[in-house]
Amino acid sequence: MAEDCIFCKIVRGEIPSNKVYEDDELFAFNDIHPVAPVHFMLIPKLHIASLLEADDSHAALLGRMLTLAPRLAKEQGLDNGFRTVINTGPGGGQEVFHLHIHIIGGGHIPPMVR
Ligand code: AMP
Ligand code: ZN
Repeated sequence: MAEDCIFCKIVRGEIPSNKVYEDDELFAFNDIHPVAPVHFMLIPKLHIASLLEADDSHAALLGRMLTLAPRLAKEQGLDNGFRTVINTGPGGGQEVFHLHIHIIGGGHIPPMVR
């Protein structure tokens, strides 16, 4: 847990969130500025700043995030697929330094790269 991290504060309930899912290791909540009809974040409760700080000891946790993502997406009504985004570091446009997967879908999702 990092004292001043906003996503750690969301996990602790110190900042309100629109929760989508919670278990002992993972937490998911809606993005406050959605870019599509469904846009939520899946995060580990463990504070890992970004993928740059992840190592082999986190492999099972990261695997759980990837296998949970489609289940939660379907529960949110995304039967036809979704986009996952992980911004990493300043060079990847990351703004909140607590590892998170954006899960985005519904409506028109344009190609990422043209
Ligand atoms: P990133 O650029 O990947 O670090 O994205 C950070 C995301 O966190 C942005 O999409 C923000 O809209 C979202 N965000 C920031 N603060 C909150 C919050 N308090 N509750 C929900 N989403 C948030
Ligand atoms: Zn954190």
